[in-house]
Amino acid sequence: MPRPINFDNSYARLPEKFYQHQSPVPVTSPAHIRINHDLADMLGIDTEWLDSTDGLQVLAGNAIPEGSDPIATVYAAHQFGNWNPQLGDGRAVLLGEVISKDGNRYDLQLKGSGPTPYSRGGDGRAPLGPVLREYIVCEAMFALGVPTSRSLAAVTTGEQVYRDEAQPGAVLTRVAKSHIRIGTFQFFAAKGDTDALKSLADHVIERHYPEALEFENPYQGLLKGVIENTAYLVSRWQQFGFIHGVMNTDNMLISGETVDYGPCAFMDAYHPEAVFSSIDVGGRYAFQNQPKIAHWNLANFAQCLMPLLALNADADANTSTNTDGPSDEDDPALKLARTELDKFPDIFYTHHRQAMAAKIGISKPDETTDELVRDLLALMAQEQQDYTLTFASLARHIESPTDDNNADTLPDAFAPWLTRWLNVIDDTSASLQLMLRTNPQIIPRNHRIEEAIQAATLGNFEPFHTLVERLKNPFDSALASSEYALAPMPDQQVQRTFCGT
Ligand code: AMP
Ligand code: MG
Repeated sequence: MPRPINFDNSYARLPEKFYQHQSPVPVTSPAHIRINHDLADMLGIDTEWLDSTDGLQVLAGNAIPEGSDPIATVYAAHQFGNWNPQLGDGRAVLLGEVISKDGNRYDLQLKGSGPTPYSRGGDGRAPLGPVLREYIVCEAMFALGVPTSRSLAAVTTGEQVYRDEAQPGAVLTRVAKSHIRIGTFQFFAAKGDTDALKSLADHVIERHYPEALEFENPYQGLLKGVIENTAYLVSRWQQFGFIHGVMNTDNMLISGETVDYGPCAFMDAYHPEAVFSSIDVGGRYAFQNQPKIAHWNLANFAQCLMPLLALNADADANTSTNTDGPSDEDDPALKLARTELDKFPDIFYTHHRQAMAAKIGISKPDETTDELVRDLLALMAQEQQDYTLTFASLARHIESPTDDNNADTLPDAFAPWLTRWLNVIDDTSASLQLMLRTNPQIIPRNHRIEEAIQAATLGNFEPFHTLVERLKNPFDSALASSEYALAPMPDQQVQRTFCGT
């Protein structure tokens, strides 16, 4: 019989200081919750096998599939700005990597699979709620077109985990291009281990940024690629009103995919300072701060690369006659780092500007569009309007500007703005098409997620399955009248989200 999963584990072939061998810890009586058949197909993993008892044993960590070489990886991080020199997969193991049907390499990771050497006293387990939340939100992000880690499967363990109260335990099978984080680089940089840094950087270049090899210094190409992907990623978050919630450097993937759906949330009513995470008391990771936090995280990444950027740096730097202390001229590595880092705001803003203009039906942004977008957001904040529904109702407004039903959906205060906006739209049908493609009808709203989790905790998984299904086609305009499109009623509003670790 062929292997059910065709592993090829390149990370486990790196030196042992990158990880510890660690098998998942078995659980008593696992049961399937959901298998993502589309994703399994893409990965070339037999869906019937995943649905079988043998598949279940693997997804729960009770059996190690042939070809897997389970490891827990080490990393460090800035968490809420505070340096932590050693973290690692404390509740996850990397089973290995698979090559998908289209030839791409993906990590398969079990999350909630028991303690590891990096568990820092935690139990290494995951409660059902956070597992379902991650499943729902990451698959919704994928459907929206946001780069993201994904969910291949969720299973229950038959065991209880104890947080504030006892909850059913669960394991998520997470898929990502890799789980290498800014924090992975930080771990080795902080130790001054340039050999390890170089091995890691070369691994990442081969795996994610092969175009970097065309640079005179490939590590500059690496930095450039990571900056570009991260800027694009955060522009997508801002476009859809997504708040990550824990943009610590261990939660920022080098591949530029969203990872770690803990206290994340999609905004209902728009507010630039919106924060959901219960632990983010200072609002460090508030909605409007995400681009600058990404830039800060990237500066830390660049810092890690300094010894590599210096490797074949130009010798004629020594000929500098500058006597005013160190400058970029004296330090070619610093100059390379700064050149790339300084591009971040422009790269982000170019993506962001384009995306926000598209949301109001304009394909070529200019200063007038910038003002329209800015004023619309200010109105939304002032009138506490729902972010997603405001854009969706603008599309309906453009379709039939005189329809009173549509006018009803936006407060009177929007009238002058609507007039200004309609004045700059010249091709109504092209604008409408653009708006329908860029503005989702439904997003994973907090109150729906909570409702699905509560039902599941009592044994009813139907609301969870229905929510996941609905979120597969978020741009389908037929969903405008769906109950899943609705903003929460005041008593349904979720104010806080939790890490759930
Ligand atoms: P995260 O919330 O995933 O960013 O976790 C931050 C750090 O805490 C990581 O190093 C995790 O491995 C560790 N951690 C989180 N939850 C647990 C848990 N239940 N048991 C052990 N370690 C954990
Ligand atoms: Mg994390």
